[in-house]
Amino acid sequence: MNRIKSVLSSLMLFELLKGMALTGRYMFARKITVQFPEERTPMSPRFRGLHALRRYPNGEERCIACKLCEAVCPAMAITIESEQREDNTRRTTRYDIDLTKCIFCGMCEESCPVDSIVETRIFDYHGEKRGDLVYTKKMLLEVGDKYEAQIAADRAEDAKFR
Ligand code: SF4
Ligand code: SF4
Repeated sequence: MNRIKSVLSSLMLFELLKGMALTGRYMFARKITVQFPEERTPMSPRFRGLHALRRYPNGEERCIACKLCEAVCPAMAITIESEQREDNTRRTTRYDIDLTKCIFCGMCEESCPVDSIVETRIFDYHGEKRGDLVYTKKMLLEVGDKYEAQIAADRAEDAKFR
């Protein structure tokens, strides 16, 4: 009986008609796809994308080389070296994040006492060889400098819910 049903269904192109009806139904429905990268979907201020190192408005690096982020990172993706400056403050001489190890958990930014290392909304970055995804201090500071306005606005928004 089932076999007869199946043969009849094939002969009458029943499945094809069902498929066309479904296509027809969605042809006039509201479009939910966006034309990336010209269009973007809304993002949370807590989005955890590419990392950045921030500066104070006077240009001084925020990072005090306490190494909390390095210690807390579960993926061991952060490498920091530091030295004391002539004014007795301490600053990093090396701050690398290996994004091929990073799991974007956000623990580094949560642990930072001076809001220096942060994760931005940037997700459309890429590397063409493995080393390209090791972000150095210089690269991280450049990201911070470029997106500081957005980073500061996101931090202010996030603070309202804490
Ligand atoms: S987001 Fe998580 S895994 Fe990535 S560097 Fe920060 S602490 Fe490490
Ligand atoms: S980024 Fe923050 S947590 Fe990491 S070493 Fe610098 S001050 Fe410490």
